[in-house]
Amino acid sequence: MPLKCAKCGKEKAELSIADGRVRLCEICFIDYYEKKVKETVEKYDMFKPDESLGIAVSGGKDSSSLLYCLRKIFPKLDITAIHINLGIKNYSDHCEMKVKELTDRLDVKLIIKRVEDQGFSIDGFKNTIYRRKICSPCGIIKRHLIDEMAIKAGVKVLATGHNLDDTVGTMLSAFFSEDFTQLVRLKPVLYPHHPLQTKKVKPLLRMTELEDYLYALYSELPIRNQSCPHSIGTQSRETKKLLERLSEGKPGFRYQVLNLFLKKLIPMIEDKLKQPDLTICKSCGFPSSSEVCAYCRRVSLVKSVIN
Ligand SMILES: [Zn+2]
Ligand SMILES: [Zn+2]
Repeated sequence: MPLKCAKCGKEKAELSIADGRVRLCEICFIDYYEKKVKETVEKYDMFKPDESLGIAVSGGKDSSSLLYCLRKIFPKLDITAIHINLGIKNYSDHCEMKVKELTDRLDVKLIIKRVEDQGFSIDGFKNTIYRRKICSPCGIIKRHLIDEMAIKAGVKVLATGHNLDDTVGTMLSAFFSEDFTQLVRLKPVLYPHHPLQTKKVKPLLRMTELEDYLYALYSELPIRNQSCPHSIGTQSRETKKLLERLSEGKPGFRYQVLNLFLKKLIPMIEDKLKQPDLTICKSCGFPSSSEVCAYCRRVSLVKSVIN
């Protein structure tokens, strides 16, 4: 027998949301999702409703839902969608196509940078020490190029689609590997320490992966239906599995971990953690904590091997 929506009372509520206890129909779910994102943006003072906002879009469910939802709830935002084509075979062009479809539909400005135009490829890391963890250099490269594009586009704030599951998973693994710098980076808002940095925000911080997927599905958004060939068997997938096991029968577990880190642990760690002295990378001119930044080091590594 179909269940009734907890909000409007109509039948045909298929899913459970909000810490796994509430069942909503499609319309009430969309409403719940948008209200919660709006609340998060306002709670952490992420941006003003008419600000110039860059949104990093990948073609996946999270960033597509983020773009669509922010466009809808803040119609006066001056949005620039930022996309990196990673040049990964049988994957990246498909992602770019989905991003174009969505930004065309929403009539949002889109800027694209292709890794191939920088003279290397992500697939090339197969021939380096990163062969089994390509996501690590790929993440560094993506972040750097997006930061660079945001600065060049002159956006005031940069929003990314990190969801609750990603965030909590990264929190736990950063905690266990004692990577406290990484842990502090998971805060909902990161303020710039240098003119060549942008304020960064995570409006989907309190939305689960499933909620992002359902929002994209119900809003009929074009999203990629292929997964990255390099992500199979990676650490982040393992962490995700661990998180699923820990949350079994405890629907509020992810929120509990998030709150514990944001309210208690991160402020404590931040107090003790010295801000690394920022210098300028002598190769690319962007802020860095070392003479040559992590991005430039990865790029020169991949360029040094034969692809
Ligand atoms: Zn309903
Ligand atoms: Zn550099």
